[in-house]
Amino acid sequence: MLPTPDNSECSRHTCAVTAEAVRKARQEIRKLRRENPDSPIIVTGCAAQTEPETFANMDEVTQVIGNTEKMQPQTWQQLAQGPNFIGTTEKVQVDDIMSVTETAGHLIDGFGTRSRAYVQVQNGCDHRCTFCIIPYGRGNSRSVPAGVVVEQIKRLVDKGFNEVVLTGVDLTSWGADLPATPKLGDLVMRILKLVTDLPRLRISSIDSIEVDENLMQAIATEPRLMPHLHLSLQHGDDLILKRMARRHLRDDAIRFTEEALRLRPDMTFGADIIAGFPTETEAHFENSLKLVTDCNLTWLHVFPYSKRQGTPAAKIPNQVNGTVIKERAARLRAIGDQQVNSHLAAQVGKTHHILMENPHMGRTEQFTEVTFAAPQAEGSIVTATITGHTGQQLQATNT
Ligand code: SF4
Repeated sequence: MLPTPDNSECSRHTCAVTAEAVRKARQEIRKLRRENPDSPIIVTGCAAQTEPETFANMDEVTQVIGNTEKMQPQTWQQLAQGPNFIGTTEKVQVDDIMSVTETAGHLIDGFGTRSRAYVQVQNGCDHRCTFCIIPYGRGNSRSVPAGVVVEQIKRLVDKGFNEVVLTGVDLTSWGADLPATPKLGDLVMRILKLVTDLPRLRISSIDSIEVDENLMQAIATEPRLMPHLHLSLQHGDDLILKRMARRHLRDDAIRFTEEALRLRPDMTFGADIIAGFPTETEAHFENSLKLVTDCNLTWLHVFPYSKRQGTPAAKIPNQVNGTVIKERAARLRAIGDQQVNSHLAAQVGKTHHILMENPHMGRTEQFTEVTFAAPQAEGSIVTATITGHTGQQLQATNT
């Protein structure tokens, strides 16, 4: 919920990734209405883009705004006129996102803390994984030119940010629509070369099969590029990967993680994995379980498969039973917990450079949370020795 300064309007940003996310958005809208009986409620985001009628049919909702429209100042200027405008316009303002070709007009995706900024360098996706609704919410891939990104990051560093995270819906496709089709590795190298006083650069989720040579080079040679990669792997079985229309096979993922670890031994990996994709048998699923250790994955984002209307996977007749999906997701999470525990235990006694998010919590180069009993300066990078862990977080004292 994003109440306006005078609290006269509520806007709900929706996520379309899973059916559960849409259900929660609807639930929250009903709650918002109960708490704010007189405020207009405006719904935007990917679910508003892909299924505007779901929200337009709710009496609680005043207006449904698409992902392109939400970035246009006039949309909000008009809505700010209140009932005079809202009463005279269509309840749904959602254009065809596939016709959008301009790059993201908004570069800053968000500020994690005073010390870390998220910079969106790419939006949309040209792939059509069979389970995924995202391209219908975000449109085709568009990239922000490198010069614009570099200037933005320079400004952020001038303002005191110690870490920048590059984000995008399909980050590794960055550059494909730009002149000379540069790759993500070129962008990373350019940022590090031109913004010499940026202490830490991270990249968010990537598709390992699309990683270019320069990105591997940066992983090997650039200590300011943080050693943590979140991989969009989705499954560990080749047949299911093909049915998902993914572009990699199980061995590609293993080869990538082995090579990244060879180049950067302190690298850790996170990964998205879907449990219970249609037609998944126990044997297919066990290949996902094995992938976790074969790829040395530490942080798992486990998604119990949920049917998204309008996707090819939703039409596959052999859907997996809901109880089985939940049980498989729980098994994946359990192995994920073991991996986190091993990672945390292996850090005890090591020295890390920790970016403080608040006086008592910061994150290592690998993005692992660290707590301090004694307060530290927020936003600073503290050198500390790891003294223990809680099963979820590391504990440290200054060196
Ligand atoms: S690459 Fe990612 S965003 Fe694009 S369709 Fe596949 S899962 Fe969705």
